Amino acid sequence: MDVVAGIDIGGTKTKIGLVDHHGVCHKQLFFRTRKYDDFDAFLDKIKESIDQLMSDFDFPVNLIGCGIGAPNASSRNGTIENAANLKWKGSVPVLEKLKKRIDLPMRIMNDASAAALGEMLFGNAKGMSDFIVITLGTGLGAGIVANGKLIEGYDGFAGELGHVDMTLGDGRLTGLGVRGGLEAYVSATGLKRTILHMLSKYMIDSRFRDVAFNDLHGEDITKAAEEGDPIAQKAFDYTANILALAMANFTAFSQPRAFFLMGGLLNSGKWILDPLQEYFEEKLLEVYKDKVEIRTSGMEGKTAAICGAAALIWEGRQPTTE
Ligand code: BGC
Repeated sequence: MDVVAGIDIGGTKTKIGLVDHHGVCHKQLFFRTRKYDDFDAFLDKIKESIDQLMSDFDFPVNLIGCGIGAPNASSRNGTIENAANLKWKGSVPVLEKLKKRIDLPMRIMNDASAAALGEMLFGNAKGMSDFIVITLGTGLGAGIVANGKLIEGYDGFAGELGHVDMTLGDGRLTGLGVRGGLEAYVSATGLKRTILHMLSKYMIDSRFRDVAFNDLHGEDITKAAEEGDPIAQKAFDYTANILALAMANFTAFSQPRAFFLMGGLLNSGKWILDPLQEYFEEKLLEVYKDKVEIRTSGMEGKTAAICGAAALIWEGRQPTTE
């Protein structure tokens, strides 16, 4: 069987899967991106992980290439450019360096665009011509499909919606230096920043009162909301409100029929999704009303970007062996 390694580089985790031409991800693993200060050591880890996954099969498998989804990726140059939530700054020549370790066809695109491609080919967006994927992880990414085509822009930077200013330059800074940028509010990290902000603003009781930023975890915030913690509940409501405004505005770009949401923040389920639905309907322009759905990934979010990135290599190729 031929497989492609789909590699989803995230601010917190890097996920790798071996994907066949039907988009089935056979083997998958992840490791912590942040452990690797040195980009070469990170690439060695990728190579080692792929070797490990390949050796897990008990029948012959042939690796035919690597597709990568990464934040701030230039699909034209094969680089990651000054990523907001990664340690490696400047222009990082991903394809050139990885090719020295694995000499096979290789392509790279933005991680959220890869997720949109995965969702379109194999997930809940199958057959849909107009939709937007929003990934809510360490940062906020967007993959836009309009008229059946993924919008990549000139060199792959279309959909940098995480850095759209929501506050007229007043507010929190994103990793790309945008004051008031969306992902500083709406992302796993944004939620934690909101908790700290609310603790300083409201003198109400909360289990997070003395917790340091690095000790705040999404699952604890969800649990606290469930148990009635007012700061946790307010933080979700605030996050949902800003995301709803952003989505109502983005609807005007390309009139999607659906937004597919995925990423760690979605683990909080109804705490985000219920107020989001309500605020979104309230803010949506009349002409779009009842025509845009809010949905979650059909691929559990975990494999959409892996499968989409792998599809970059499968595109236009036939498997040589089954
Ligand atoms: C980056 C995007 C990326 C998103 C999700 C943002 O900070 O600018 O390129 O898609 O995070 O990883």
